[in-house]
Formats: sequence, structure tokens, C-alpha cells
Amino acid sequence: MTNPDPTPHPETTLEHYPWIIVRFRCTRCRRYGDARLARLAEKFGAAETIASLVERFRGACPHRPAKRNGRVVHHKQPCGGYCPDLGSTVPPDLPPSLSGLRLIEGGKGDMLPAEPKAPRRRRRVGAYE
Ligand SMILES: [Zn+2]
Repeated sequence: MTNPDPTPHPETTLEHYPWIIVRFRCTRCRRYGDARLARLAEKFGAAETIASLVERFRGACPHRPAKRNGRVVHHKQPCGGYCPDLGSTVPPDLPPSLSGLRLIEGGKGDMLPAEPKAPRRRRRVGAYE
């Protein structure tokens, strides 16, 4: 089977996910996870979508809505779990040397002057002048 659109989106299944590593991040808590695609497919099946995996990731978040005394307690901050690689065409597991050159802001204007520092005059202690 071929996937005409290589860009991953929430409904992309593991079978069609283009990268080897599936990354999960959260904007609310410090949790994150990098999972190998083959492991995820083995555990949840090749038909599992990224959206449902993100849902699982959110399920373990300290900011998720919790049930207390049978009532759902909504925290002020819901979990911000997401997969940062959705909609991206850049593999997360590509070595930087293979992803080509990128323009970095700043550049020449930010460079330090090239002239050497003025030499510090040393004085010999006890020298006669
Ligand atoms: Zn979270």
C-alpha cells in the first residue's frame, strides 16, 4: 500500500507513518516521549492512528481531567500533549548533516570583531625605569 501524502497528520495510521521515531510532547507538563514506530505498531497495531496515541499520551498527564469522588474534576490547564511531527516533512530522526543547510538569523552582523585584543602591557615587578 502506498500513501500519496507523506506528510503525517492526526489520522495517519502507524502503517503509513513516515518516520522511524514517533515523538510526543506536552506544552503543559514536562513529559515527553520518543517511541519507535515498530514498537508502537507491535503494541497497538498498525491501524492505530497518531491521534489515538496522542490521546493515550494525554491520559497519563498530570493535567488531565481526573475523577474525584465520582465527579470529573477539570484542571485549569488541560494536557497539551501533541505530536510535534504532524504536518512536517522533516524527519525527526534525520541527522543534522543530512537535513541540509539552514539559514540562521543574525549572522555576519552578530559576529565579534576580528581584530586581536590589544596586548596587555606587563610590568616587571621591581624593574627600573
Ligand atoms: Zn501533559
